[in-house]
Amino acid sequence: MRFQHLTRFLRILTTTPFITSVTRRSITRIPFPISRTTALKAAPAIPFLSSFFSSTAKAEESNMSYPDQRSEAEWRAVLSPEQFRVLREKGTEAPYTGEYDSKYPSKGVFTCAGCNAPLYKASHKFKSGCGWPAYFDSIPGAVTRHTDRSFGMERTEIVCSNCGGHLGHVFKGEGYPTPTDERHCVNSISLKFTEDEEAVKSKA
Ligand SMILES: [Zn+2]
Repeated sequence: MRFQHLTRFLRILTTTPFITSVTRRSITRIPFPISRTTALKAAPAIPFLSSFFSSTAKAEESNMSYPDQRSEAEWRAVLSPEQFRVLREKGTEAPYTGEYDSKYPSKGVFTCAGCNAPLYKASHKFKSGCGWPAYFDSIPGAVTRHTDRSFGMERTEIVCSNCGGHLGHVFKGEGYPTPTDERHCVNSISLKFTEDEEAVKSKA
């Protein structure tokens, strides 16, 4: 009897490698399905890769309507080509290149680069090390989520609730020590920053 207990104990011990949980955790921390080096090397050099980075949530979203109903031509007139590619065509900027990636202001508001709607407070931003600005929460109602099934996986796309501009994706349960354990992974180019919270409130 005792021997049986011992074998069972040993079996449990040997089939529960602690390394598995460590590996699983590090996998979920990968910020983007493409490795950082691949993205850095390939994105500027191969133009077609920009279409690989874009997402296919468009069809689902075509039925959505947003308060800011500007046409494609109107957006082109006010946005830079890169802002248009990311905000209106759901592109992704190369990691570690954005203006706000490593900026951690103590106060202020990040607004939509398209329509100026306030999206995130400075206090929502945290250091994720993923190469894009990361926020654990947004201003209530400012960000709308869609399921994005591009590239054979299911991700949650986030857009500006006022103009539908593409911001990035949100990831949950990665183990970051934040109040929500969510990471809003946002393109810097989709954002503007102002320290003047009051000015943003009066505009909103
Ligand atoms: Zn917007």
